[in-house]
Amino acid sequence: MDSNHPVSPVPPPRPNALSNESLSALDHAHVWHPYSAMHNTSAVYHVDSAAGVILQLADGRQLIDGMSSWWCAIHGYNHPRLNQAAERQLQQMAHVMFGGLTHAPAILLVAKLLELTPEMLQSVFISDSGSVAVEVAMKMAIQYWNAKGQPERQHFASLRGGYHGDTLGAMSVCDPVTGMHSLFNSVLTRQFFIDRPASRFGEACTRQDIEPLEAALQQHHRQIAALILEPVVQGAGGMYFYAADYLRQARELCDRYEVLLIADEIATGFGRSGKLFACEHAAITPDIMCVGKALTGGYMSLAATLTTAEVSDSIDCGDPGVFMHGPTYMANPLACATALASIELLLESDWQQRIGEIERQLRQGLSPCEQMPQVAEVRCLGAIGVVEMKEPVEMSVITRQFVDAGVWVRPFGKLVYLMPAYIITDAELEQLCRSVVEVVARQVD
Ligand SMILES: *Cc1c(COP(=O)(O)O)cnc(C)c1O
Repeated sequence: MDSNHPVSPVPPPRPNALSNESLSALDHAHVWHPYSAMHNTSAVYHVDSAAGVILQLADGRQLIDGMSSWWCAIHGYNHPRLNQAAERQLQQMAHVMFGGLTHAPAILLVAKLLELTPEMLQSVFISDSGSVAVEVAMKMAIQYWNAKGQPERQHFASLRGGYHGDTLGAMSVCDPVTGMHSLFNSVLTRQFFIDRPASRFGEACTRQDIEPLEAALQQHHRQIAALILEPVVQGAGGMYFYAADYLRQARELCDRYEVLLIADEIATGFGRSGKLFACEHAAITPDIMCVGKALTGGYMSLAATLTTAEVSDSIDCGDPGVFMHGPTYMANPLACATALASIELLLESDWQQRIGEIERQLRQGLSPCEQMPQVAEVRCLGAIGVVEMKEPVEMSVITRQFVDAGVWVRPFGKLVYLMPAYIITDAELEQLCRSVVEVVARQVD
């Protein structure tokens, strides 16, 4: 590994109470994995440890990680600074309830988030996962309109192709097709879905792009509490990068029709798109903003919902005068202390320049795919590189091909993508890109 890596070496394997074979058998028999059948027919790979961008498998193989564990591990794994922050906090206290009690890690984290986000955002609700942060945002919007004497505003407008989480409220604003709304028909609230803009990042927003949103708001604004969207980058709904100008115009329309704007920055936050937060591409301030994923640098599950004093004051003055949410593990001190260290680490680094370099290298490294007949498009923004295939890939087959090539890349649908840690070296990123080109080249039938 490059000596620039500020990471500990990969720890040696530690003997488990059970053999690797017994662990695998138990996993197969009893452990559910995400979006999987219980008795998963495709392989799951047993990780023994991780450091930097290296995943150490229990069978001795090492993989270069191209996923950052779903956008989270921006500083790589086993980072000494993050380890130290968690260990120090562990000596103080692992957790206390947040009802009636408070603590420095939560207060300092909130202060740091306010420093980095638009000035109008002043009130912060800390929660335990991205989906919950979205639920909280939706409930804030509903309670706000209730306090304003418009209790009929209980619906949301949302962009097609969006992804906002897996709990029922968050699911209701995910893309209705990829989110399989048909399965959950009668429990999901019906929302107003808006065609996403066809204009790509870097292009101007056209009349046709904005018309569907304008029409929906014009017709239904009295029922709509908020427009929720992922700014600029739609993540798990299709890895799609749209015109920043659309965001500016959406902000104007929300103002005109008095609809709140919720920016879901859970995937885009903390530098991934080349700005600290993707709203900065359009210089807009949302009324409510959700952050999560990279918040703790991939160490623990933590998220936050930020809003304006206008929204929080109105909720305070409404009925029942309190915000109706309170997770058991709200503002867990271990997670807050680690998040604060992760943000400080990011801000101390030359992250913007590094992400610019990663973007250039992704563009160049993935460009051979553009010529392949099985590829529809290659697109890159910030530390995100996407190869969109013409046909869906066979996930278990292609994942195995990547593992055999010594890298961890997990495509979904038609999308083969890289989202590396920002501390990845040029050589490691080159190997990731080369593996993508080689594996994609083999996807012909
Ligand atoms: C991942 C994600 C969520 C959900 O976060 P979880 O922590 O998985 O609940 C919500 N919105 C966006 C944009 C995401 O990428």
